[in-house]
Order: sequence, then C-alpha cells, then structure tokens
Amino acid sequence: MSTDFLQTPLQYLKGVGPRRAADLQRVGLATIEDLLYRFPLRYEDRGNLQSISSLQPGQQVAIAGRIQSTRLRTTRRPGFKIFEALIGDSTGSIVAVWMNQSFLQDVLRRDLHVVLFGAVEARPRLQVINPDYEIIDACDGDDPDDASTIHTGRIVPVYEKAGAMTPKLQRRLVFDVISRMPSDLPDPFPEDVRQRVQLPDRRAALVETHFPAAGASIDRLNHFRTPAQIRVIFEEFFLFQLGLMMRKRAAVREAKPRAIQVDDRIRHAARAILPFRLTEGQRTALKEIVDDMQRTTPMNRLLQGDVGAGKTIVAVLAALVAMENGLQVAFMAPTEILAEQHFLSLRKLLEKSRFKVELMTGTTSGLRRRDLLARLSAGDIHLVVGTHALVQGTVNFHSLGLAIIDEQHRFGVVQRATLRAKGLLPDVLVMTATPIPRTLALTVYGDLDVSVIRDMPPGRRTILTSVRPESRREEIYALVRKQLEEGRQAYVVYPLIEESEKVDLRAATEMADTLQEIFPEYRVALLHGKMKQDAKDRVMRAFAAGELHILVSTTVIEVGIDVPNASVMVIEHAERFGLSQLHQLRGRVGRGAHQSHCVLLYQYPISKQGKARLQALADTANGFEIAERDLELRGPGDFFGTRQSGLPTLRTGDLLRDHSLMEQARDEATRFLDEQTLTAPLVERMKAAWPSRFGLMDVG
Ligand code: ADP
Ligand code: MG
Repeated sequence: MSTDFLQTPLQYLKGVGPRRAADLQRVGLATIEDLLYRFPLRYEDRGNLQSISSLQPGQQVAIAGRIQSTRLRTTRRPGFKIFEALIGDSTGSIVAVWMNQSFLQDVLRRDLHVVLFGAVEARPRLQVINPDYEIIDACDGDDPDDASTIHTGRIVPVYEKAGAMTPKLQRRLVFDVISRMPSDLPDPFPEDVRQRVQLPDRRAALVETHFPAAGASIDRLNHFRTPAQIRVIFEEFFLFQLGLMMRKRAAVREAKPRAIQVDDRIRHAARAILPFRLTEGQRTALKEIVDDMQRTTPMNRLLQGDVGAGKTIVAVLAALVAMENGLQVAFMAPTEILAEQHFLSLRKLLEKSRFKVELMTGTTSGLRRRDLLARLSAGDIHLVVGTHALVQGTVNFHSLGLAIIDEQHRFGVVQRATLRAKGLLPDVLVMTATPIPRTLALTVYGDLDVSVIRDMPPGRRTILTSVRPESRREEIYALVRKQLEEGRQAYVVYPLIEESEKVDLRAATEMADTLQEIFPEYRVALLHGKMKQDAKDRVMRAFAAGELHILVSTTVIEVGIDVPNASVMVIEHAERFGLSQLHQLRGRVGRGAHQSHCVLLYQYPISKQGKARLQALADTANGFEIAERDLELRGPGDFFGTRQSGLPTLRTGDLLRDHSLMEQARDEATRFLDEQTLTAPLVERMKAAWPSRFGLMDVG
C-alpha cells in the first residue's frame, strides 16, 4: 500500500529489528518518514577519490585506503596524545593524525578500509590532519557489496550520529528505502503551489536530497540549496505557516463580548496618571494596542522593548482604557517577587484613579484569599496582579477584559488557550524584553501582532561595560568596593550550565564565601536555582530592601527584577553566556540615578572571536543589534538560551539559513488560504506535524 509507505515502522527494515528500532524511536526516528526527513549534515564527493601519491599540501581531500599500521604517541605536554594511522592505497601511503583522541586506537584498527576526508598539510612530511573518517568494511547486517555502491564511488550523504543510528547505518537504510519507494508516492503539497514555486515533486526531492545524482554541485548541496533540498524545507515551512495562519484566523472569527470605546474623558484620565512624557516609541505602541482593543475581535499582541524601554506604563495605560470601560484587568508576572514589584508600581501609578488594585499570589491564603476571590467575581477589584495562577484554577472574574503577561512570551500562548477554555475572550498583551530579530519574530510569533518600542526614555545613562581577564580580579574588587562604600549594591553572576551544574554550583558557593572574606564588613548572600522558591524570595527581598550588599547568583536574577540601588554587576565566565543573555543580565543594573558598571570576566582559553563577541557587547547598548549579532553567531536554537524557547522544532529547515524561504512560505500559505480550501491529506499532515514536531499548541 503506497499511501502508508512513509509510515512504515523502521523495525521492518532489513538489519533493524525490534531492539534497534526501540533505540531509534528514543531519538525520534520511528518511521520511514522520520528517516527521510532527516537531512544529512553534509555531503562528501567520494565519486573521485584521490590517489594517495597525487596529494598536495593545502588540499581538502577524500581518499580511501587500508590501515597499514597505527600508533599512539605521547607528547611533552602531559596528557596530550596523538593517534597516527598509516593509510595506503595502490599508489602509496600517507599518515593521518588525530590530536587528543586516544579512543581511536580501538576504532581504527589495522587492516580496516577507511575513507578519510580532511586537509593535507606538510609538516614536514605530508599528513592528513584530524580528518573525518568512515570505516567502509562490512559490519553487522551490512551487505559486503554496500561499500562500493552506497558508501563510496558517488556523492554520499553524511548524517549526524543519533543513538544507535550511526551515519553509515542511516546511509544504508535510506538507500534501501529509496530504492523501494513506490513510484506513485503521494504528495500532500498542493500541486499549484509546487508549480508556482517550481519545486520538484516529493519522491524526486527525497531521492535527490539523500543520494544526489553524479555531477550535482557539492557546494550547493552543502549549502542546502539544491531544488530538492529546498522543496523538502519548503514543505515543512509551508505546513508550519499554514498552521500559524489557521490559528490566527480562528482567533479572528471570535467576537469579544463587550465593545471598548475611547473618548475624551478617558484621554483625560490617562493624562492625569502619566508621570512623564511618553517617548515616540511608547506612543506608537500604545496607539496600536488601543486600536486593537477597540476592535470586535480579541487583541493578541506582543509588546517588545529592550530592558528599561518603559513597557510598564504602556501596559498601565491600556489597563486604564479597559477599566474605564467597566472591564477588569489581570496582570501576570512569571514569579511572585516580580508580581509584588509590579503591584507596588502599578498601585502607585493608579493611586490618583478610582480603580482598586490588588495583589494575589500563591502565598495569599485563607481569609484574605477568599475575600479577594469574592471581590474579583463581584467586580469590586479592577486590576489584579499575580502570577499565572491567576487565570488557572478557581479564580472567577466579573468581567475580565484584558490580560497582560509580562516577560514570558511562550507562556502567553498557553494562557490564551486557558482563558479561551474558560469562555473568556479578553484582549491579551504579552510583553517581552527579549529583542527578537525579525526573522525569528515571523516564525515564533507568526500569529501575534507585534509592537516594538525602539527608543529609550530620555536621560538614561549607559552602563559602563568592560571586558577583563580573570587575572585582573583585584582591580574589579576595587571597583566593587568603591560602589559599596558609596552605598550601592552589587551582583556577582555565575553561569549554570546543565552538564556541569554541580561544579558550577560549588564554584558559586565558594565565590560567595571568598567574597565574604574579601568584604568582611558587608553582607554577602547566595541565590541559585536549586533553592526553594520561598528561600529565593527571602534573599531577593532582603537584597531589594538593601539588607544585603553583594548578591552572588546563578542566572535566576535574569528576568525583570528591579533594585535601583544596585550599580555594579560582575559576570563570571562571561564567555559561556549568549550575548542576548548577557544583555538581559546587564539590564539589572543601571535602573537608578547612579552611574552603573558591568564587568565581563573571562577565563582562558578564549578564542579571538570569543573575546571580540564580548567586546561587541561592551560597545553597544542596543538590544536589537546585539540580538541580531547573537543570532548570527549562535543560531536560533541557542539564541533564547532555554529549552522552552517557543521556537518550533524544525526537521529540515534552519531558521537562519533558510529565513527567506520561511518568508516565501508565509506568503504562499496566506495566498493558499485565501484562494482555496484545504485538502484532507494536507490537513492530516499538518495535524500530525503540529503538536509533536513544531512543539506548538493545537491548530485553531
Ligand atoms: P521595561 O520596559 O524594562 O519594563 P519599565 O517599564 O520598568 O521598563 O521602565 C523603566 C523605567 O523607566 C521606570 O522607572 C519608568 O518609570 C521609567 N520610564 C518609562 N517611560 C518613561 C518615559 N517616557 N520618560 C521617563 N521615564 C520613563
Ligand atoms: Mg518590565
């Protein structure tokens, strides 16, 4: 049955079996489709292998030969070993050298046939340095003829190893599958779109993607720019965009239960609470938001603005519009302490208005909680500040008109769904200080409207940022001491990376102790992610109250916390952070009237490029510029630095490399939805892809 061909479980393939299949499933490879929609990492031209006697220094070469002998050499540097293998073909032999990979002595054994791919250097003898290798002798399950037909003698795909799936195994499996692929493999991609963008059909695209014809451009292949590759990527992007649009259009069909109007009375009320003149960016964002609010369908807007750009006041003014229209507002922050901070500033901003502002968090309990709940459902509280618990569980609103969600974009999508499930259709405003480059915004927030505040309130002092080697600690402590003597407070930040979590935590703990010795007259405290929430809150509160002077912390202080008296931040191992993350961290200082400082401490070894990166951060204060640069350097996956980034999980496409394809896919998806109805196979495919692959919520 050709319709089910791609859905065939891998266990039915020759040489896989139930055990290996289970193993492959664990790395996300369950069916033939999974296998075929997994791109090679790169391609090697093994069609014309070079003869060893013809090699010249400076070349990038592919050679095949037999391992004649091997040895592991020790060097004068302790622990540094070099593995050498003498490789011969019918014309001669050459030494291949691998630095610091002693394990290769168990892998590359004498008499094995290998293909090597790497650079030839004269030092002084000709050598191949750190080449990629592949053993082409038959091993378990392989047909002895495979070596010459599949693994060499052509352009071959090189896959990334994943669990039990070695590059070689995948190559053979893909080869088998492709040779048995039905000629009438169904193509769910709409035919007219395919014609218009001039892409090959699915079957041809899959074949060419994995086993390109002789003469295909290796360069284009390795840039993933052949028509076949583009077709596969485009298919994925198209489905993704189609899903986003359907979700957006489904939202547009819903009508809000109440209309919102803005008149002179409301404008006057807004002016009355304004403590300062809005910046141009704030004004524009506010207008976009209020325009949305006056529409009959719910607002779904993201408000983006760098740290300190002044998003809060914009949100408060939007809240005022809702409240003046007789509606309630929920303001949600990611943590209790942030909720408290917001509560205090919102209450102050609204103190001259007639609206009642209350705080309700997880720790609000007993009588107080019951009282708040009753008043909320009676409509007696106009604005409630809290954490996400606000829209979950037992809270009933009298007339919720606007939900504002601070500093948590991913979460915004989830909240919207929760609200909708409760039959509430409030306007939703999500705020984030993560500057998102256009390319990503298109993808991640494809179904949100976006307002951006690009300017800063006047009179902001830039944070003096310096880049220093760890060896210059003394000088940095002197800077910290000077700030403390002037009555300021300091942050010392440690990275916490999963693999080395324990080690880092120990380092942070030791640092807190050391700092306490260096600054005996000041109080030093430690804050880290492994602490219980209430312990964290206690420390944070004490720091905010000025009872602690130096806060040593892992990155838990990243979002939103506001301690204007803190004027210096030292970031340890700055080289381990992403630029955007550093920028967010740095935004924790410079919030008061005092000149603030940020010191980026790095440890050796650091590459020239690594240092240039840090310097770039020191040289610019513009979050968007930094984000673009970060994205270029690290790619979108790492860009947000977290797992719950909200980015779709793409199988073949790459948001950075393929961003123009994403834009094209978006245009095509829009046009498609405008012009025709979805076919059943397309809907099926989208539904299958949507939650599991793209990691997003249900379609529509
Ligand atoms: P963020 O966008 O990071 O949430 P906030 O809303 O907390 O920034 O604003 C940062 C600081 O700037 C606050 O102290 C706020 O009162 C102040 N601020 C905001 N807008 C203006 C403005 N237009 N003029 C002067 N100060 C402003
Ligand atoms: Mg804020």
